[in-house]
Amino acid sequence: MQALVRTDEGTEWRDVAAVTPGVGQVLVQVSLVGLCRTDLAVASGRLRVDTPRILGHEFVGRVVAVGEDVCGLSLGDKVAADPVLHCGRCDRCAGGWQHACRRARFLGVDVDGAIVQQIAIPAPNAWRLPASLDDRIAALLEPVAACAAVLKTPIDVSQRGVVFGRGRLASLTKMILQSRGFLHVHCVHRGAEPMESDQYDFAIDTEGTTRSVGQLADSLRPAGVLVLKSRPLRPVELQLRTLLPKEPQVVLVNYADFADARELLLDPAIDFASLLGPVWSAERSARAFEAAALDPFRKHFVDLTSFPAQNSVARSQHQCVPSSDV
Ligand SMILES: [Zn+2]
Ligand SMILES: [Zn+2]
Repeated sequence: MQALVRTDEGTEWRDVAAVTPGVGQVLVQVSLVGLCRTDLAVASGRLRVDTPRILGHEFVGRVVAVGEDVCGLSLGDKVAADPVLHCGRCDRCAGGWQHACRRARFLGVDVDGAIVQQIAIPAPNAWRLPASLDDRIAALLEPVAACAAVLKTPIDVSQRGVVFGRGRLASLTKMILQSRGFLHVHCVHRGAEPMESDQYDFAIDTEGTTRSVGQLADSLRPAGVLVLKSRPLRPVELQLRTLLPKEPQVVLVNYADFADARELLLDPAIDFASLLGPVWSAERSARAFEAAALDPFRKHFVDLTSFPAQNSVARSQHQCVPSSDV
């Protein structure tokens, strides 16, 4: 089957071995993969990975085979994924911190990813979505979980807040906050007018630069909440000397619960369509990566359905009742 692989030389389509689902895994026929900053960094070599490595982590597809000991998922289910694979045995997993697992592996970075015709993933990482949901919106599950993490912070709907960033992550974060009742949220970006000091109750950074964090810290009122949610490749400096006297709460967040992210994805009040960019055919994937790198506003997708279908042996060991009615 075909996969888009990062090699020592660059990125290319390769024929890779077919996979079967192991115990506790499902095999997913991938239909669409969204491209995000992490994928672009791996493809360009800015984020180093062991090679060869299949790219991609924001995908949607259909379950085509079910391994042993899988409950709640059936053949034909549409699923999107939580891309952080966890061991389930370390102290952090035991404490409910699976996304901080000591042996966490991120799809498309630490292990082979999803720009491939079929991928086997642990069933707990597969989130079932309604068949009627637009594939492009379904593939937004992971970025929605990342943006919705801001809802875990000590901020309140009555407060005034600002989101720093120009692209779709800032827009998505703002839309999610608005959908949950936050009425006073503004977006600012690098080229905008400088912000006044001490005007916001909370400030959320989606850019991850020393400059953006510094501007946001200045814009916060004393004892405001500074939310850091991006994972820049470069270190970010905090000017503690000027930041400390205002005693802000600095909160770092990773992901929302993926069950909450799935609920948000199905919320018709959130205009996900405004974030959707073109769907590129697999043959034009190189162009898709170039275009995605130049377009911070819209999500670009690679379509995996143009390849001939794989033969897979559908196997369902247990009769399971679906865990939720979606
Ligand atoms: Zn992503
Ligand atoms: Zn673990």
